[in-house]
Amino acid sequence: MNNLIDILDEEISKDQFKEYLVNRNKEWIKKKNGSSSINGSLRAVILGCIDSRVPIEKIFQSKPGELLVLKNAGNIITLDVLRSILVAIYELNAKFIVIMGHTDCGMAILDNEKKIIHIKEKLGNNLLETLEKIGNKDPLDWFGFFNQGKWNENAKEQAQTLKNFLDENIPKENQPEIITALYDIESGKVVFL
Ligand SMILES: [Zn+2]
Repeated sequence: MNNLIDILDEEISKDQFKEYLVNRNKEWIKKKNGSSSINGSLRAVILGCIDSRVPIEKIFQSKPGELLVLKNAGNIITLDVLRSILVAIYELNAKFIVIMGHTDCGMAILDNEKKIIHIKEKLGNNLLETLEKIGNKDPLDWFGFFNQGKWNENAKEQAQTLKNFLDENIPKENQPEIITALYDIESGKVVFL
C-alpha cells in the first residue's frame, strides 16, 4: 500500500524542495495542537527506527508536548541515544523508555551475503577503514545491521544493552522502566514483547 503519499522527482532542486517543505509546514500551522510549554508529559522516551513507515508520534496519537521520540537506523542504543536518554531521565523526568523495532526493517541483512557485499562495495574501502577506526569494531557491527527477520531479537538486545548501561551507572531509584515493542508496518499494530 502506498496510496496518497507524495513521491518527489529525482531532479527536484534544493529551492523547490524548500518550497515544498514550506507548503507542508503551512498545513501544519493550521492544525497545530498540543502544548508549546510542557515537554514530555507522557514521561516516556520512544526509540524507533528512522524508517519513514514508522511515524512514532502518529502511531501513538501523540501531540506536541507529550512524547520524547528518538529515531535512528535500526533503533540502536548508540552513545548519542544514551546521551538523549540521560537528558530525558534527569531533565525531563522520563519514567519509561520504549525500544520499538518494526517488521521489514532494512537494517536486517546479516544472513544475506549479497547484501553485505553490495553494502561494502557501495561504502568503499576508505570509508570502511575510517568507520572501523571511529567505531573500533567491524563497520557492519558499528552500523548495527542484524539478521533478517530478527526484529524482536534486535529490539530485545537493544533493551538489554540499555539495561546493562543503566545498572552499571545509575542508582536503581533513578532508573526508568524499559519496555520492548514491535510495530507491524502492514497493520499498524504495536505488540509489547
Ligand atoms: Zn528499520
